[in-house]
Amino acid sequence: MSSITVKILAFWLFYIPFAFSAEIGDVFNVKQGSENGGCDSHLSVLTQWWTESQAMASAGISAFDDAKGNADETKTKNAKHALEKYLGINDDTDDADVDDIKLLLEEVQWFMAKKSPDSKDTPWLFCDSSWLEPKPRTLRIEECGEEVEIQDSQQYGSQLQEAGSVPYWSSDLKEYIIGHAYGEGGLCGASGELGVTQGTTASRTVTLCPRAFTRTDVQTDFGVDAQGKKLSDVLSKSATLFHELFHLVIGNDDTIDATYKLGTIFKSVAKGYAVPAKSEWDGQANALKNSDRKTNAQLVRTNPETWVFFCADYWYTLHKNLYWDTTGVSKTA
Ligand SMILES: [Zn+2]
Repeated sequence: MSSITVKILAFWLFYIPFAFSAEIGDVFNVKQGSENGGCDSHLSVLTQWWTESQAMASAGISAFDDAKGNADETKTKNAKHALEKYLGINDDTDDADVDDIKLLLEEVQWFMAKKSPDSKDTPWLFCDSSWLEPKPRTLRIEECGEEVEIQDSQQYGSQLQEAGSVPYWSSDLKEYIIGHAYGEGGLCGASGELGVTQGTTASRTVTLCPRAFTRTDVQTDFGVDAQGKKLSDVLSKSATLFHELFHLVIGNDDTIDATYKLGTIFKSVAKGYAVPAKSEWDGQANALKNSDRKTNAQLVRTNPETWVFFCADYWYTLHKNLYWDTTGVSKTA
């Protein structure tokens, strides 16, 4: 294909209706410059990730609409299949419950369109965690007119009781943030996190970590030929930004990273009403966080990666006539 054809095709595949479009810089306070978390060297990539995230969200919303039976028969069947295998929604699910589940994705879409009904802040977007300056736990800060060590302060003391947590200062936010222990990688951690979202500051923050830009286990562009491939292999690097948007918009407390594995999502949906045993989930730490004993179905629906897979799968169904099931590789829809 000529490059013009490719460009026209790319426009068609990712065309977003005007009502849902806003630029990433309208919605986020994107850190300028190339130091201290600055995004200047990533601006074109971020624009691409934004467009791809909008396209995935839009496809996910279409699945809910198509499942209502207003589309042609094949589309309706495919959409119902997507809702069932990722979110455990079937013909027996109450309409009001379906609306509540759909609302999670709609809120993300509204955020991307700068139409969030009650957003009080413009969140910051940083492109690494060096925007945070490590400080000692004995740092003296002023609180209620008195000087106290930050570890004894009313505002941060209890957070600093948690094992391994330490204070960082942000000169952009002019606030302290309590994060992982000091060391290589800062807030992103040495283990190669892809992104970190936090909502404890007056303006919330999304930090895209270096590995989000350099990883090679996913595609550079979303929408490649996926015939016979695994869904996780045909996601693009934009999946990190899209994933973090769910943490940001719905809130970290209500979005547990229960699993990043497609097979675990499908298995959990099949056992929807059970409260999961630890071994069913990838991360022990996350399983331990399930203190309110959410069921598999509840966990799956608030797991950001579920939404990434669900939206990407249905995007492929709409645009490339493919879908995924428990066999792991794509099938013709
Ligand atoms: Zn996450």
